[in-house]
Amino acid sequence: MDLDHLTVLFAIGAVCVFIMVTVLLYQRHKKEQARFALEAEKNDKLQTQLEAKARQALKDAVEAGTHLPTGHKRCLVEECPLAATKPGIVFARGEGWQDYVKRLFGAPPRYTVKAKKKGTEPDLCEGHQPLAREVAKERLARHEQKRVTLMMEEEAELAHFEHVGLISRTSELAKKAREMGGRVVSIQQRRVGG
Ligand SMILES: [Zn+2]
Repeated sequence: MDLDHLTVLFAIGAVCVFIMVTVLLYQRHKKEQARFALEAEKNDKLQTQLEAKARQALKDAVEAGTHLPTGHKRCLVEECPLAATKPGIVFARGEGWQDYVKRLFGAPPRYTVKAKKKGTEPDLCEGHQPLAREVAKERLARHEQKRVTLMMEEEAELAHFEHVGLISRTSELAKKAREMGGRVVSIQQRRVGG
């Protein structure tokens, strides 16, 4: 075999190897493409399912009256058609150290009217939040008035008891003691008597 023949054989061999490598690479590429396509299809399916679920949830929420078709939460005020954009109103208890000390000594908790903390889900529309605040203020004023009235009534009762009830209750108990054969003995008398 001379040099020309060897060169031709080598060239044919090289072409064969090149073709085989190309075919293998092409097959691998095809396989990867098929895998990507399958994954994309799976993801699309999942996405469609999630979207359908979200649509159904929104539909249910709209039917229940808690949300608007735009996806916004609806104002909690009955029959208000607007979106809730403002936080709800709460009675906030004083939580400073002075409040704590006051409560330790038996003072009743003091409340103020406040909007819910920032970051909480809105409850009311722009127009109804100020109205809710006024309603809460009015109710808190009534609460204070009730508390003051109760305290005044209790003080009046206590004063009445001091003047009238104290002696009459003592007499009543003394009478009961007499009926049971006992007698009232002071502490000094007890000491003397041993
Ligand atoms: Zn509203």
